Amino acid sequence: MDLIIGAGITGLTYAARTSNDYIVVEKENEIGGYCRTHYSGEYVWDYSGHFFHFQHPDIKDYVMERLPKEEVLTVNKHTQIYYKGRYVDYPFQMNIHQLEKEEFIDCLYDLFAVKQDGNASSFKDMLYEKFGKSISEKFLIPYNEKLYATDLNSLDVDAMGRFFPYADKEQIILNFRNSQKQFYNSTFLYPRKGVIKVVESVASRVNADKICLNEHLVSIDLNAKLATTNRRTIHYDNLISTVPFPRLLDMAKVPYDRNVYSCNKVVVFNIGFDRKGADTKNNWIYFPDKDIVFYRVGFYDNIIGLDKMSLYVEVGFAHGEAVDEKQLYQRVLADLKKAGIVADEQVVDYECVVMDPAYVHITQQSETDKTEKMNFLNSHSVYSIGRYGEWKYCSLEDNMHDAFMLADKLK
Ligand SMILES: Cc1cc2nc3c(=O)[nH]c(=O)nc-3n(C[C@H](O)[C@H](O)[C@H](O)COP(=O)(O)OP(=O)(O)OC[C@H]3O[C@@H](n4cnc5c(N)ncnc54)[C@H](O)[C@@H]3O)c2cc1C
Repeated sequence: MDLIIGAGITGLTYAARTSNDYIVVEKENEIGGYCRTHYSGEYVWDYSGHFFHFQHPDIKDYVMERLPKEEVLTVNKHTQIYYKGRYVDYPFQMNIHQLEKEEFIDCLYDLFAVKQDGNASSFKDMLYEKFGKSISEKFLIPYNEKLYATDLNSLDVDAMGRFFPYADKEQIILNFRNSQKQFYNSTFLYPRKGVIKVVESVASRVNADKICLNEHLVSIDLNAKLATTNRRTIHYDNLISTVPFPRLLDMAKVPYDRNVYSCNKVVVFNIGFDRKGADTKNNWIYFPDKDIVFYRVGFYDNIIGLDKMSLYVEVGFAHGEAVDEKQLYQRVLADLKKAGIVADEQVVDYECVVMDPAYVHITQQSETDKTEKMNFLNSHSVYSIGRYGEWKYCSLEDNMHDAFMLADKLK
């Protein structure tokens, strides 16, 4: 029997795919993990905006097969950066020609002056090496410091993998005349009723009786293949865990260095207003300026076509940092006004969601240690998958792909 820990998108996809007998144990009283959606009147709020660019046609078909077509929107992507009080198209490095002349020249000069010896040893080094000082210091470094809430020197060169919008000099220059938005996923998909609809499309293939809600894993006896939850002890053949990797190591009593695994947390405010705001085009906006508390603001209303402003506002913190949510909310409102997103519109409702972990800090040490510990766990029929199970940066499509692969392997 396969014991699956967690009914997020990864655990559910594994359950839907496997032909083995299985049970899913989920600590919350509902499925979905980070892919849950809340509703408040007309407002549709994910934990934080979740949008899709499918890379695998088979996974797209799998998700879409059980979603009513008219419920899935294909949205033309429009995203910008709020830079020194004006807007520049995203990604910054492709749109330096939209800056003031002096700043544009600095960026262009540094882009060509930089020596690319391919020896970058950290994420921050890589930014300097690929884009030069000005592009790095005007946008890439401050923005990513706000998001990751850590020293970018500690992150691995490849900390963002394929999610980092690389661009070579030729592409940057060609973009001066012809916008090459097609390089950066010019459209995305979004279910009108939120990301939970994707989870439900997967969950409709899972036997509901086999999902045990309000039950959480407490400890694992690796040798005896016994898992203890808050309710019982379960004997498993394979244990598939989607809980954050360091937590799994704790539960399996595998010793490790706690300093190796760090992450940020993201505090999200979903805010609904009584009317439409001034911005009717952007899907989301990036904020590198450290005087503004949030790093990104998304407009659900512009995405789903609502006539009232509905925002998600993301603020990055270090994992252990104390946050006073009420105070932060007041600061968020003040900064939304400062940035010109909110004027006289009145808040009708809001909620605060804490995603912790949100972005894991991928370092050389975490990658090496993870591989070693994963091999050890695999040799005891314990498999750790998912965004936090594998301690990586990925999309929910990647999670589904990994779950398919593992289910097929353990058949
Ligand atoms: C800010 C942000 C924005 C994102 N935007 C996008 C996007 O636009 N598009 C996209 O594709 N992806 C996006 N993602 C990524 C996406 O959210 C994740 O890849 C996906 O939700 C991970 O699913 P999972 O099942 O692996 O983990 P989770 O969703 O974390 O699920 C794990 C489950 O395990 C349960 N659990 C934990 N501990 C225990 C225990 N001890 N016992 C039992 N159950 C337990 C949890 O309650 C949870 O339900 C975003 C992520 C973040 C943080």
